[in-house]
Amino acid sequence: GDLLNRFTQRHRQPAHASRSTSPEPTMNELLEALALDQFVPYFQPKADLLTGAISSAEALARWRHPVRGLIPPDSFIPLMEHHGLIDQLTEQIVAKTAFAWRKWDSEGKRYEISINLSLSSLSNPGYAARLSSILEGNDIAPSYIVFEVTESAAMSDLPHSLENLARLRMKGYGLSIDDYGTGYSSMQQLIRIPFSELKMDRSFVTAACKDNAQVLVLASSLALARELRLRSVAEGVETAADWRLLRRLECRYAQGYLIGKPMPQSDFLDGVALWDAA
Ligand code: C2E
Ligand code: CA
Ligand code: CA
Ligand code: CA
Repeated sequence: GDLLNRFTQRHRQPAHASRSTSPEPTMNELLEALALDQFVPYFQPKADLLTGAISSAEALARWRHPVRGLIPPDSFIPLMEHHGLIDQLTEQIVAKTAFAWRKWDSEGKRYEISINLSLSSLSNPGYAARLSSILEGNDIAPSYIVFEVTESAAMSDLPHSLENLARLRMKGYGLSIDDYGTGYSSMQQLIRIPFSELKMDRSFVTAACKDNAQVLVLASSLALARELRLRSVAEGVETAADWRLLRRLECRYAQGYLIGKPMPQSDFLDGVALWDAA
């Protein structure tokens, strides 16, 4: 029984494995990539639907592979979670995001930046302290950083997750519920965890633009955000029609290909200037 268990453990594939045709990176390759600093954040702008101006960005991890080129996060984030490497990745993304913030600041531009956290990191006591020490060491005021977490049933079961999130919020960082509407949603969690932002999932936005009945779903989530005094952000804004609908529904911020794709740090200010000039 024990042998068989070990065998199946070793051969169990993460759920996404069949989706990719490229060979799945091994743990050693991931460790090497971490050591060689090959993971970088790309930055996708977000616009304020009231003013139309770019207000903020989301840091999205990419693997700059010397042979395979740019690898998207779906091909390595689940694996890094599986191998217990995600905390290290996040710390590198946080440090590089701080570096980007300072670079833009030196050019007179200040943007709020969102960073994605994995739930598995949050069960780690002291994780909030580690993240904030990286940011404090780089002199970034907490009001410029938002941490995005995907809501999940697991969250409320883990006292450490609650504690980490509460600590981050108490320090003044923003806390966003990512992919709102896709998974387990409960008022209980919205109230217990001191979130500051609700991020509507892309599928919500897409559906609302295609189907009038779906507009109600989006509108009621936005009403909930207002009621709870949470900032609202919509992702997957791809068309001018999406933009108009969200404005009409009084969503505050928009993120999506209409406004800009994720860009390397060096292209971000030019990308923003292009949008702000239009
Ligand atoms: P997410 O946090 O929901 O990020 C939004 C994803 O939607 C990004 O995919 C972004 O490029 C994509 N997107 C943005 N606008 C549009 C649009 O208008 N249309 C369409 N079709 N897609 C759009 P990406 O960069 O491939 O990231 C995928 C997921 O990987 C993220 O989903 C997030 O869950 C995860 N991820 C990325 N970076 C990190 C990280 O540093 N740490 C952790 N833990 N997870 C990360
Ligand atoms: Ca996100
Ligand atoms: Ca999302
Ligand atoms: Ca997502």
